[in-house]
Amino acid sequence: MFWDNHMHSSFSGDSDTPAIQMINAARALGLCGITFTDHLDLDYPSKYGFFDLDLKNYYPTLKKLAEENSTPDFTILVGMEVGIQPQIAKECDRIVHEYDYDFIIGSTHLVDKIDPYFDDFWQGKPQQKLVRYYESILENINSFTDFDSLGHLDYVFRYSPDPLLKADTYRPYKELVDEILIQIIRMDKALEINSGGLRKGMPDPNPSADIIKRYKELGGKLITLGADAHNPTGIAYEFDMIKEMLLGIGYKEFAVYKNRKPEAFPL
Ligand SMILES: [Zn+2]
Ligand SMILES: [Zn+2]
Repeated sequence: MFWDNHMHSSFSGDSDTPAIQMINAARALGLCGITFTDHLDLDYPSKYGFFDLDLKNYYPTLKKLAEENSTPDFTILVGMEVGIQPQIAKECDRIVHEYDYDFIIGSTHLVDKIDPYFDDFWQGKPQQKLVRYYESILENINSFTDFDSLGHLDYVFRYSPDPLLKADTYRPYKELVDEILIQIIRMDKALEINSGGLRKGMPDPNPSADIIKRYKELGGKLITLGADAHNPTGIAYEFDMIKEMLLGIGYKEFAVYKNRKPEAFPL
């Protein structure tokens, strides 16, 4: 039985799907639970879009929906995906405690204020950009630490204009990636396994199997599963395949955060 711990609704700038539609679709798939994690991306350049979360309404609205629609077999939790940048770390620290969120994903969506989704990020040498991406994750998780799971590490490779670079998200950046993994283990954070990469045509989830194996080797115990769905078709995408992959690496359970505390669920 799966729990999708990374899901968006129309509270996110890049989703049009009302939360109730996500709830109904997830229930129909037979999941045992879902956690909403809509985007909070403060200080996000307006030329790319709008990612400020309607904080006054977000938690109260979804909490009410969660209470009305949860059953003994299907639980709905409310969290948030925080787009980290060093200059907004203090503000994020404050916001994550404004309401009783169950789960906070810490993600890196901007590198030096540029969104790698857009071409302007990739001007110059792509491999140097990828190094800079990993460096900025390290800076981010050293500035904002009040998250539970590190979101979609290595997702930026999806957008690399050089297809050769997509083949290996670990070895060419081994030192940096190891430093990130060691840091989250030291801080007792989880590593998110995000199947959004598979949906976008990558051979692996984010992060790649190589990075997940390395995390396990280094002693990483906590993992969360999320499909990063922005509409019903993405919910729990390829979770069966991810389950097999994780069992092969040696994981037997995944974590679901309730009231910011991990609970173990068997894979
Ligand atoms: Zn994200
Ligand atoms: Zn997301």
